[in-house]
Amino acid sequence: DLSIPLASDWSTLSRPTLRPPRREATKFTRGKLVVVGGAMAGAGVLAASAALHGGAGYVILAEPERRDGAPHALVRRHVADASALATLLADDGIGAVLVGPGLGRDEAAQAQLAVVLASPHDLVIDGDALTLLGREVGARIGTDRRRVFLTPHGGEFSRMFTGHGSKIAATAGAAAASGATVIHKGPATVIADPSGRVQVAADASSWLASAGTGDVLAGLVAARLAAGDEHPAETAVWLHGRAAARVGAGLIADAMIPALSPLLDRPST
Ligand code: AMP
Ligand code: MG
Repeated sequence: DLSIPLASDWSTLSRPTLRPPRREATKFTRGKLVVVGGAMAGAGVLAASAALHGGAGYVILAEPERRDGAPHALVRRHVADASALATLLADDGIGAVLVGPGLGRDEAAQAQLAVVLASPHDLVIDGDALTLLGREVGARIGTDRRRVFLTPHGGEFSRMFTGHGSKIAATAGAAAASGATVIHKGPATVIADPSGRVQVAADASSWLASAGTGDVLAGLVAARLAAGDEHPAETAVWLHGRAAARVGAGLIADAMIPALSPLLDRPST
């Protein structure tokens, strides 16, 4: 049933409720996240850094080569191949897995994506992983047993879905078809979940049209998902937009990272 909501069935994204960690929190209960890094090292580091500054308690960056460097809070694991990744993901303490930023599209990337999809974890799928999935994504990737979040820009969206009508209608249709929450990025970002809820954020800074800002958003969605946020997509898009506004003109993705933490320290409204 691909019932597509009317254009009136959406609302403007509003400020989410943000709470400090519970008193009895540990770094693991606050959200253990695995970011699957790839050939392009910077994208994985940006996504993982955004996750740490966006509220995840423990972030593992799985990388195909031995690397180190900042941020030192990041737990870097050398994962040489798909079977090493499968071993890493055989941990039921993992709250979520992010795959896609800087992944590449070669055979190694395809094999890593297959391992991630075979794992039982909640997922955020971005960038190259979306392009690798292509039209296959229509086959209900999100199920009752696992929550899936897709973060396509316009080009990635059109490689996955044959959209009809407005961006809102097309995104709502994509969420219904895939069983995933779809965060369709751009000057107006449309968030549609499989239940038909649609939210729109249309006031983000155009300085976000800059390399790496999508990796920051993907890391934020994954952090909120791992931390048990009821609405990870909404919270992440809001934090991302506010961080961009704080950085201002000439924004680069790296500068968004330190702008995130102060946004978590707000009374809930
Ligand atoms: P990506 O294309 O994956 O690098 O993601 C780019 C990020 O920047 C997404 O969060 C977009 O919504 C945002 N973005 C890109 N262009 C604009 C724009 N002109 N105005 C506002 N946000 C934008
Ligand atoms: Mg991107």
